[in-house]
Amino acid sequence: MSDATAKKEQRRKFQAIRGTRDLLPPETALWNRVEQTVHEVFTTFGFGEIRVPIFETTDLFARAVGGETDIVSKEMYAFLDQPDLSDLENARNAVKELNPGITAAGKQELFELYVSNFISEIHKHVTAQDINLPRRAQSDFDTIQDRFRDLLTLPDTKDEDTNNKRRHLTFEIVIKVDLLRFGESISLRPEATASVCRAYIEHNMLQLPQPVKLFYTGPMFRRERPQKGRYRQFYQIGAEVLEGTRPEVVKDSPKELSKDAVIDAEVIEMLMTFFDKVGLQGATLYINSIGHNAENCRRGYVELLRAELQKEPERLGEDSQRRIDTNPLRVLDSKLESEQAIIATLPHIADHLCDECKTHYAAVKRQLELRGVLYQENWRLVRGLDYYMRTTFEITAPGLGSQNAVCGGGRYDGLVELLGGPPTKGIGFAIGEDRLILSLQESGKGQTQQGRDVYIAWMGERAYAAAIRAARDLRSAGFSVELPPVEQKFGKALSQADKLGAKYALILGDNEVSEALWTLKTLSTGEQEKFPEPELIDFLRQQKNVSS
Ligand code: ATP
Ligand code: MG
Repeated sequence: MSDATAKKEQRRKFQAIRGTRDLLPPETALWNRVEQTVHEVFTTFGFGEIRVPIFETTDLFARAVGGETDIVSKEMYAFLDQPDLSDLENARNAVKELNPGITAAGKQELFELYVSNFISEIHKHVTAQDINLPRRAQSDFDTIQDRFRDLLTLPDTKDEDTNNKRRHLTFEIVIKVDLLRFGESISLRPEATASVCRAYIEHNMLQLPQPVKLFYTGPMFRRERPQKGRYRQFYQIGAEVLEGTRPEVVKDSPKELSKDAVIDAEVIEMLMTFFDKVGLQGATLYINSIGHNAENCRRGYVELLRAELQKEPERLGEDSQRRIDTNPLRVLDSKLESEQAIIATLPHIADHLCDECKTHYAAVKRQLELRGVLYQENWRLVRGLDYYMRTTFEITAPGLGSQNAVCGGGRYDGLVELLGGPPTKGIGFAIGEDRLILSLQESGKGQTQQGRDVYIAWMGERAYAAAIRAARDLRSAGFSVELPPVEQKFGKALSQADKLGAKYALILGDNEVSEALWTLKTLSTGEQEKFPEPELIDFLRQQKNVSS
């Protein structure tokens, strides 16, 4: 292999991991514009930004997103976070290695010393918070301590019975010492609602004026098959409204139902305002109500659905057949061409909602109309988890192929409680920022202002000093300036300015410096004008105001 090939090989070794990508300028300017608009619009609706960690315990997502969902069961980046604690490992090894000689005289005391040392090492690290013991480890550790206590209280006799007990306890202790794992399973977040709810509980946000309105932006991680609009690291923009319910509040009273409907509609109004501001065209809002988890409402409907599907299961694909048992609602989600005809004959949930859910859904639609938000009803819009209730919605946008959902959302009144918090209502959404950006680009709304305002073409020592001053003054006035580090012939400088998309070239040579008149060339027209130094910035400012 030649040197050059070897070098090329080596360079090729490092590539962004499948499903992840670099976002580069000029595209990042568009990302910034989108996120800027998020801040502007969401704050006008009274939302504040929350930043939650990129990783959390796996348990949190398993609980909140659902252990049986695709996201948790196969798409999460989970790993054991194992602390590197050499003193603790030495203490562990001491116990393990002594074991075979345990019955030999004199070794018993040493064994007890080592075990007690191991136990106190753990206590030390727990106190110092270097480790925390996940549930299983805690129970293993409890066992070690119990057995050790039993061992110490054995009578100091050498009879057969006591010896057997001693051997037995020792054996158990050694096994548990060997098995004890301090690491904790943590996962890169596949979504952020779980974290926001965790934070609501952890920071006792119930004490704040309710509802608490939060938004976030940032990367999420799911091990999916990468394709257009589907990545393994992707970005979401989301918002959540959380409202702790006081004990005296009558659940599902007309007043509460109507208030919830207003909150739902306002969240959707904010979303559509944002899409509008950011320039997304052709967005369609779909809404549905999935009722609530009760016999006279969703549960009854699900049974009906199951019965219908069971009549001719062979007409369904493999996945849907499985879902007849596990989660018949998800069958409605199916995009399989072969299943569409049968799905079209299934009963609609709207005809099986309880009175409260019906009232709430009617109120949401009225509130949307009041706000001039256009929507389409889609009875097949569902969420797979029990605590999702009533309002669900999705927004699609053009230019995205089959990955055309740019936003999904819904009401999740049971979630905070499920995570160990107080009774709390919730509604939120998550926008897929990658897809939003793609759609903006496809529709030609992805342009952001690019290129430098001014390229400074200078020649000569004296001109260079003036160029540095000009660059500083222009930059502090907010212009984007390119000051080349080496002297170039004017022709070359001007072609460089063109390549960088500069609007103006400021030409500084000996003449300009001696006359104190600076030449400004408008690159699009080729026009040239001379300005005294102080007037230059004023002129550029005026031009900028005209064009923006
Ligand atoms: P889909 O049906 O497209 O897989 P989803 O139901 O998994 O979406 P949610 O979990 O509701 O999506 O997330 C909200 C939004 O996040 C989606 O509407 C989509 O725009 C975006 N999104 C979800 N997964 C990805 C991904 N892997 N890559 C890019 N965007 C994604
Ligand atoms: Mg998905």
